[in-house]
Amino acid sequence: MTDKEREEAQPSVDPEQAGERGQPGSEPGPIEGPTTVLVVAAHPDDPEFGCGGTSALWASQGKEVYYVVATSGDKGSSDPEMTSEKLVKLREAEQREAACAIGVKKVFFLRLPDGELQPNLVLRRAIVKAIRLVRPEIVVTHDPTNVYSDQGINHPDHQAVGHATLHAVYPTARDRLNFPEHEREGLRPHKVREVYLWGAREPNVWIDISESFDAKVRALTCHRTQIQKPEELAKRMRERSESLAERYQGDGQVPKLAEAFRKISMTR
Ligand SMILES: [Zn+2]
Repeated sequence: MTDKEREEAQPSVDPEQAGERGQPGSEPGPIEGPTTVLVVAAHPDDPEFGCGGTSALWASQGKEVYYVVATSGDKGSSDPEMTSEKLVKLREAEQREAACAIGVKKVFFLRLPDGELQPNLVLRRAIVKAIRLVRPEIVVTHDPTNVYSDQGINHPDHQAVGHATLHAVYPTARDRLNFPEHEREGLRPHKVREVYLWGAREPNVWIDISESFDAKVRALTCHRTQIQKPEELAKRMRERSESLAERYQGDGQVPKLAEAFRKISMTR
């Protein structure tokens, strides 16, 4: 990737879009009214698998949802005729279509190499820039502490993005002297209020996605290069959402279909 391509891959700077919400230094309190959400994921399709039902529900409630996708999934094919160049085009188009089905306002692609992500300053800088641009109250991402389970190993890119995003939220995006070039580009520091982690071993929040489940499945089926049998996918997703709902621990009514997260309320 040339320097020019790398530059173009960064979230574009548009202070007009960044708005005036979330003044730095404001004290945390209950989030009311329309809210901006930034979903940060490693690969195309991760945002839908991880939090598609929640994002679709929030979008339907008037929240503004944005995606940052760190790679364009250029290794995700076993087709001997497929090349990484072709795959990037296909997967970005699929991701945009899926985001549209969820009600997402915009997708930022960082176009870093699939399978090679590290929780380093290149990744953190790009995520910090997106946070300062979008100015979300809520950030949703991979749980980086999920290394493996009885069913398998978590993709290293997922762990890298989870780590980099947590450290982008705190303290990097908040403190103006981190990546000071952002300030020169017109971006102000930003304090995120809540972080939701999907794939958490110990969730503490369950979101009822009964109303948005169909949108989640519709969005997932847009990822045609990844999903061969959409009928089976819907069944599998329903079973997964039911089993997450069964683990519900809360005061309210037990949801039928749920996504589960580890939620961090930022007090600093
Ligand atoms: Zn992934």
